[in-house]
Amino acid sequence: MGLLLAMALAAATSAQPAQTACAADALGTSRTLTLQREGAAWGTAQHAALPGLAPKDVVLTFDDGPRPESTPLVLKALADQCVKASFFMNGEPMRAHAALARQVRDAGHSVGMHGFQHLAFGQLPAAAQIADLDAMVAAYREALGSEPAAYRFPFLAESPVLMAALRERGITVMSVDAGAEDWLPDQTPQMLADKLLGQLAKSGGGIVLLHDVQDQTARALPFLLQALKAKGYRVVHLRWDDVPR
Ligand SMILES: [Zn+2]
Repeated sequence: MGLLLAMALAAATSAQPAQTACAADALGTSRTLTLQREGAAWGTAQHAALPGLAPKDVVLTFDDGPRPESTPLVLKALADQCVKASFFMNGEPMRAHAALARQVRDAGHSVGMHGFQHLAFGQLPAAAQIADLDAMVAAYREALGSEPAAYRFPFLAESPVLMAALRERGITVMSVDAGAEDWLPDQTPQMLADKLLGQLAKSGGGIVLLHDVQDQTARALPFLLQALKAKGYRVVHLRWDDVPR
């Protein structure tokens, strides 16, 4: 019995190398915050602050992927520091790179939606907005086999039509509290870190917007995570209740 137990424990341990592979001085994930599917909207750029966060807590989010050239680098940087994040994916790349979308989910990260295409909905008729949401939901279900629970608007450009549709479907809208403006060209890791830490100093922490689709962000992420740790920020992993509605 003792030998069998030891073998079972060894098997259980070896089945989860990602849990133990990070450095002893890693940034880590301090705790998990699980939200209900209540159709709420969070993030001080447009809404109330996410409830349950303490000062210096940060929720890391990555938009616009998955992209084979950069998303795997982001996953590696996060794994090296034992950090769990949330990825807001577009439907088109999610459909084109479904295995990579599953790889993100299977690494323990949360996945939300970011529009099938990356459209500015304010310019579109209501039917076209709903069609984009429906295509996004279909791509999510197809890639991950589960029901989406969260949505971030492309360009953070919220439209009344989609806000109402998301609320009706119980999908949480996620805005942001801070970012690094990592869509600007030619940003060095130091420039991105300075921008991010500057915005976090003002917000006190909160939801951080980054882009896994950006090569410069993927390259800078190890440096950014070190900078967050050096300044005493703690990573909170945001999840949603997985029970279907
Ligand atoms: Zn975007």
